[in-house]
Amino acid sequence: MDMLETPVQYIKGVGEQRAKAFAKLGVETLRDLVMAFPRAYDDRTEVKTISQLQFGDACCVSATVAAPAKLSRVRRGLDITRCAVVDETARMTVTFFNQSYVGKNLIPGESYIFYGRVTGRIGAPEMQNPVMERESLPPAFTRRIVPVYRMTAGLSQRVVANAVRQGLEKCGEELPEQLPAYIRERYRLAQTRFAYENIHFPRDKESLELARRRLIFEEFFILSCTLAFMRSRQQEKSGKRIRVPDMTPFFEALPFALTGAQRRAVDDILRDLSGDRPMSRLVQGDVGSGKTAVAAAAAYAVIRDGRQTAFMAPTEILAEQHFATLSKLLAPLGVCVDLLTGGLTAKQKREAQGRLKSGETQLVIGTHALISDSVEFADLGLIIADEQHRFGVQQRAALSDKGDAPHVLVMSATPIPRTLALIVYGDLDVSVIDELPPGRQTVDTFLVGEDKRQRLYGFIRKHVSEGRQVFIVCPAVEESEENPDGLKSVKEYAGELSEKVFPDLRVALVHGKLKPKEKNGVMEAFAAGKIDILVATTVIEVGVDVPNATLMVVENADRFGLSQLHQLRGRVGRGQYKSTCVLIRQGGGEAAAQRLRAFCKTTDGFKIAEEDLRIRGPGDFFGSRQSGLPDMNIASFATDLDMLKTAQQAAKELLEDDPELSRPENAVLRQSVTRMLMKNRGTLN
Ligand code: ADP
Ligand code: MG
Repeated sequence: MDMLETPVQYIKGVGEQRAKAFAKLGVETLRDLVMAFPRAYDDRTEVKTISQLQFGDACCVSATVAAPAKLSRVRRGLDITRCAVVDETARMTVTFFNQSYVGKNLIPGESYIFYGRVTGRIGAPEMQNPVMERESLPPAFTRRIVPVYRMTAGLSQRVVANAVRQGLEKCGEELPEQLPAYIRERYRLAQTRFAYENIHFPRDKESLELARRRLIFEEFFILSCTLAFMRSRQQEKSGKRIRVPDMTPFFEALPFALTGAQRRAVDDILRDLSGDRPMSRLVQGDVGSGKTAVAAAAAYAVIRDGRQTAFMAPTEILAEQHFATLSKLLAPLGVCVDLLTGGLTAKQKREAQGRLKSGETQLVIGTHALISDSVEFADLGLIIADEQHRFGVQQRAALSDKGDAPHVLVMSATPIPRTLALIVYGDLDVSVIDELPPGRQTVDTFLVGEDKRQRLYGFIRKHVSEGRQVFIVCPAVEESEENPDGLKSVKEYAGELSEKVFPDLRVALVHGKLKPKEKNGVMEAFAAGKIDILVATTVIEVGVDVPNATLMVVENADRFGLSQLHQLRGRVGRGQYKSTCVLIRQGGGEAAAQRLRAFCKTTDGFKIAEEDLRIRGPGDFFGSRQSGLPDMNIASFATDLDMLKTAQQAAKELLEDDPELSRPENAVLRQSVTRMLMKNRGTLN
């Protein structure tokens, strides 16, 4: 058996009980143990003499026990051990609470290293509960950089550190070298043994940095190999070619001419469709860049060739909006368009499903309802997923399974850095729509504080009096335990606005906890101009198109990610009127203010995305629902992007040389790739 698979229970000093605690941290084998890298480090390298100590210092002191320790029982449940220690400069007291056993370890005349925070009075320094070690023993927990591990009940830093030490010793020379020697040399990466030892017990800061660099590279390298591997597997699938029809009737039916960027995306798609493997393409374009028309072109081509298209939207509101737009465009061209959402009655659903199964419906637009088992297609040729990051990869796959290797088109308004796109979207080819339709106005963006609220209300009133409409977005739904910070709650705030501030205006409320029917009712009324001010949560973030809305107000703007704010801002400025976005900042300090001020100055979605990624990391960046990024052990998609690029390049070179990783020298790497595949089943595309 592989030594690294040894259950952690059998590591010296662990045993059955502690193994259970380790399991809670995800550590079950020796491999897991040595891979459980510290989450932080405590730098205990500084050693001072007692006379140098300042109140509040955290440092080591080398001192000799001057007299036997004294144990005093203060009361039931509290005893104190006090001991005087000296060095050549002065005297210090070390105090231990409820550690009556330490007394016998403090041998008079013996020298120890104490590490702790300095308290006590001037001239009478003290350390409470210091870490102590005999000076004659090799430094383990003092005089060096000490690891700080993730913790759980039943373990302590000392127990984990000792287990790791034992683990590393047991591994001996078996720590697998996963990187080919030439790569290690070319990128000047530390050796495995050195890396593992120094990531846990760094000799010094430089060694820690070398270890980190190597391990981050290694993790990204394995990830890159894994993705490339999957990609080559994907390419083996074959799909049905589409004979691309004459697109002229479609282009003539469009109420506008496509922009150059839209045109290029359509060309990419038509080329994919006529190829002999199924299309997997992502169309990435900022809000308002016109992705719907591009999707419609794809649907038209597939449908003209006699196959069906399923268009999946993340919300019911969006599905209905797409249904309206696409029916208007495609029905006159003879395309049979249908809608399938959770909001339909059982009877309506059955009928819609019947039309799909018989092949009568050529284009179906829907929500997750499309994935349900009872939905069958006559001949599904194309899947379009709008705002992809809201769909799990599995959901997309489930829809794919309803056809015979259908083509897949994914649309996203979340611009993500190119390097990350490779990971999040895996095998997808990417078309970028980097041009807005002509005549689009930029949205002026302002950041204000609470003090400008009255003026803001005046500004809102002015918009409404000119016949325009206003969005007000708040981060939380209601005042509850979930919302302890007094964030603007939509419900109360909408009530306040409609009763006190704008009693003469039509104020409505929409949030995610409403029933779909109610939500749609409100959105439709707003789109029809029957509501002046819509108070909402981020349910309106995606896609909704109301050209008459010209003012977007965001409460507690500091609570939102920049990419999310960018999406919200994209809800206005969709018509001929000058539009404005006002961010109200209630908290977050100077850091938030700076971030938001930068946001006010730029409209470039890619720049905003990179900034967001840098500040908030990928979890927040993609929304908590699903980051689409695999869990990494040490590498970070936010801070180690440069290393990711290098590793991707190295992986590419290696795989060109040995595409199946079948050479003996790549056997260990191949195993790691397999492990990464298993671990991330469902996450990776
Ligand atoms: P998004 O990329 O955010 O999904 P949409 O497809 O909803 O954008 O398009 C936004 C608006 O721009 C829609 O009202 C649409 O009709 C319009 N539009 C799209 N393409 C063009 C174009 N080439 N010229 C003019 N208007 C366009
Ligand atoms: Mg859209």
